Amino acid sequence: MPVLFVGHGNPMNAVEANAFHRSWRTLGQDLPEPRAVLCISAHWEAPGVFLTASAHPATIHDFYGFPRALFDVQYPAPGAPDLAQRTAAMLGAQLDPQRGLDHGTWSVLAPMYPDASIPVVQLSLDTRQAGAFHYELAKKLAPLRDEGVLIIGSGNIVHNLRLFDFQDPDPLEWAARSDADIRQRIQAHDHSSLVNHDTLPDAGQAIPTPEHFLPLLYALALQEKNEPLRFFNTAVLSSISMTSLQIG
Ligand code: ZN
Repeated sequence: MPVLFVGHGNPMNAVEANAFHRSWRTLGQDLPEPRAVLCISAHWEAPGVFLTASAHPATIHDFYGFPRALFDVQYPAPGAPDLAQRTAAMLGAQLDPQRGLDHGTWSVLAPMYPDASIPVVQLSLDTRQAGAFHYELAKKLAPLRDEGVLIIGSGNIVHNLRLFDFQDPDPLEWAARSDADIRQRIQAHDHSSLVNHDTLPDAGQAIPTPEHFLPLLYALALQEKNEPLRFFNTAVLSSISMTSLQIG
């Protein structure tokens, strides 16, 4: 299976038929149908490594100030407790039978797989850990690709909500520069500089906190030698980049 990193951006992308929403719909139609999805979302930070293990994970509406219609969205995809258990053994992770799916996962999957028939498991982000921890952990997920599991990192490569200008979507200069720089490093397979993301140029503004960036490392860690990749949704909106990539 290919591997994705998806810039998820505004939760409204789940319900608005905009360019991002349409691109996710197309992706769902074009990719080989996965047996299950394993998603690493920016929105599940935990003190440890956990996997959702419910057979029927709830839809978590983990945001405020959005229209009622967004809170009404339910994404009733089944869980995959077997896959969660096996993955936990591979990673030395723990199961969380209570946890549901956050919007980093369902806002992308609802357009991709609107009938919610593909089982979904989420992996938490232990944001106490440095980039190298996540990159090495992600490598252990590689065998799942051969079993038809679609692994998706969901975050935003450049993400600074504090500096986001809701009146003006034009890219801020440093945000566009940082997005281009990171894309160039991805293209050059310079993973070590990305793993050490704190030392990237503009990191103070582009990656003020690691949670939206780290899901990228999970996708990159799974890129095999010489495996092709393509970028999509390479827009920068104010201080958030939507840059996404498909590996394989
Ligand atoms: Zn987010």
